[in-house]
Amino acid sequence: MNGYDCAGDELNNGVSPNVRAGFGQSLVRHGLRLERDPTHTLQINTGLLCNQACKHCHLEAGPARTEIMGRATMDQVADYAARGGFQTADVTGGAPEMVPGIDHLLTRLVGAVPRVMFRSNLTAIRDTAREHLGQLCRELKVVLVASLPATHASQTDAQRGGGVMDTSVGTLQWLNSLGYGQAGTGLELHLVSNPAGAFLPPGQDRAEERYRRDLQRKWGIVFNQLYTFANVPLGRFKTWLDSSGNYDPYMDRLAKAFNPAAVAGVMCRTMVSVDWNGELHDCDFHLAKGIPLSGVRWHVTELQGPPATGKSIPVADHCYACTAGAGFT
Ligand code: SF4
Repeated sequence: MNGYDCAGDELNNGVSPNVRAGFGQSLVRHGLRLERDPTHTLQINTGLLCNQACKHCHLEAGPARTEIMGRATMDQVADYAARGGFQTADVTGGAPEMVPGIDHLLTRLVGAVPRVMFRSNLTAIRDTAREHLGQLCRELKVVLVASLPATHASQTDAQRGGGVMDTSVGTLQWLNSLGYGQAGTGLELHLVSNPAGAFLPPGQDRAEERYRRDLQRKWGIVFNQLYTFANVPLGRFKTWLDSSGNYDPYMDRLAKAFNPAAVAGVMCRTMVSVDWNGELHDCDFHLAKGIPLSGVRWHVTELQGPPATGKSIPVADHCYACTAGAGFT
């Protein structure tokens, strides 16, 4: 066991206490604790290898990263998903498309839990060596969750790299042609958007309406739902915040937007995250920061089921990104 504290005592992440109250203090001020509800989702981070190096990435994923999940760990994770009785497995990265054996992991997970989600950056999957993954996902009825920060090229390419918008549009059209996002197919295609800079996202409903209108009008693209997320002040995004002098203003913005009602819906209450080594964390942001599950280093082979309901969740100031405005679920 290490020295991490649980709700009420934020971890020291170098933020001046004069700038704002720590996240733990904000919880205490509102008489709240961050504790687990029944955990139904296993998020699986297959590694940091990615074909892109997006500016907002809290994991600093990129083409030079070598951390990826091996096949033995994939089997251990799929075994845990089954014996833990999870309802959902949520496969993420990096770019999980690039991880050798990802077909094996998806196939095992589909046999282990009722719902499997796969997060795609919409460019890695268009490599000819990986296009079969789209077909596999269709056969397995895997839910696709795709990043698309904006409906115009200037913002998307600035954040994710030159040419990403064009490739993403082509991928979405191709996924639509496979039946993804189309009514009556049962093939779900959800989009995720995040702001380009140090500001909060617009309201989800309004943004979804605009995305639906723009994507349909410009390219005939359809999708199921849009989720808008605040950028999390970790990794490459934190480096940019620091170097541009935006760190404190951004943290103040997140802290001012603290919404006590959003604490009930933050994802760590119902999800547990496993990294490419098979170690468990309360969420992908704590994973990025190296904070283990409930402050204790557990390997996926050591647990019989999900973390217990009522268990305290360690907090840090990046948690403010989850409770700003409508929240981050
Ligand atoms: S970063 Fe968000 S999801 Fe993770 S522990 Fe904090 S509130 Fe929960």
